[in-house]
Amino acid sequence: MAGTLATAAGLDPARATVPVETRGTRPRVLFVSHTGTMSGAELVLRDVVRAWPGSAAFLFERGPLAEALREAGLSVQLAVPGADLSGLRRDVSPLRALPVLGRLARLGLDLARAARTCDVVYANSQKAFLLAALPARLVGRPLIWHLHDILDGAHFGRAQRIVQARLANACAARVIVPSQAAAGAFVRAGGRRDRVTVVPNGLDLTLDPRPAAALRAELGLPGGPLVGVFSRLAPWKGQDVVIEALARVPGLRCVVVGSALFGEDAYAAGLRDLAAARGVADRVLFLGQRSDVPRLMQAVDAVVHPSVDPEPFGRTLVEAMLAGVPVVATDAGASSEILDGGALGTLVPPRRPDRIAAALAEILARPAAFAGRTRLARERALARYGAARMQDDLAALVRQVAARA
Ligand code: UDP
Repeated sequence: MAGTLATAAGLDPARATVPVETRGTRPRVLFVSHTGTMSGAELVLRDVVRAWPGSAAFLFERGPLAEALREAGLSVQLAVPGADLSGLRRDVSPLRALPVLGRLARLGLDLARAARTCDVVYANSQKAFLLAALPARLVGRPLIWHLHDILDGAHFGRAQRIVQARLANACAARVIVPSQAAAGAFVRAGGRRDRVTVVPNGLDLTLDPRPAAALRAELGLPGGPLVGVFSRLAPWKGQDVVIEALARVPGLRCVVVGSALFGEDAYAAGLRDLAAARGVADRVLFLGQRSDVPRLMQAVDAVVHPSVDPEPFGRTLVEAMLAGVPVVATDAGASSEILDGGALGTLVPPRRPDRIAAALAEILARPAAFAGRTRLARERALARYGAARMQDDLAALVRQVAARA
């Protein structure tokens, strides 16, 4: 079937490019992303591709990711203008998806042509995987799915989970996830256990040597008790729970860093309304999307990671550990893994502003009591979550997949 379609599309696998072994040990990779916006998965991709200069990327839409990948030495192909798939949301009904089917077919053919020039196709998102599966098969290229989501009921419908897991079993040479929590969800959805590999996200931070007070002065942040929440604004990221918590800790201020990257503008506006309704509008500082998150983290007394649904990883959690700041996180998804079951940060149940408030009040009242834990968290984060380790692990997997193909 795949061969017939491929030939019909002028994509005969036999007319493939030079096989891997004749081009030395470095396979050429086609990195595929459905979005051009930089959220956590794209920041990971930006770091992953640094190990693959000369490879290629295929993006479904414009945005800062294209520039970041070009800077890393990749040739970047954008889907034809008009192939914008942003309307194709996770929960869209098949009927409403119909108008985009033509664009999808065109995109699939372009993807297949791009894949033919590479040895391995590397899909960096759920949508990228779904759309790259058939094209990669058409041209006989192995497909890696870097699954940055957690395939559970909080994020995906049952049918979606089953389809994705089955497609992965059929089409993915390897599924990479950033945590045991994400691996477990993939297997529970029906994914093959032997197909999935856990490679924790890795990141390096450049820290500012100046003390928090100096950073606050430079950043224009107020003195006194100050905490921060650092995530794109989205209902499942739980910023509203932190605003509720703030109302229970008199005098505490909070910086809310991040913006609604994927159309959650109503939620973002609602956060301001909530702050006003709870009488804390003057204590919540909305800073919008920032490129200096590490510095901002260093300037606050504690970081809250309040996601109400399970996180597949949570880069912000590791960033806070690396910044040497006490952490309060909801116990959902990978948080417990990253915080060693609570030994490296305070874990609270999701959607519990009272518990967040109590944890913050304790940290603020006795900061010295948390200094040892925070230092240990930083050491562990440095040892486990470096970018070089992630790049090496992923490079080994890509080479393995290419060699087997
Ligand atoms: N981030 C940022 N600027 C902001 C808010 C967030 O650069 O204003 C970064 C944050 O530092 C982290 C990433 O966005 O590196 C979010 O990754 P995470 O895994 O926490 O969440 P995701 O957005 O992938 O669900």
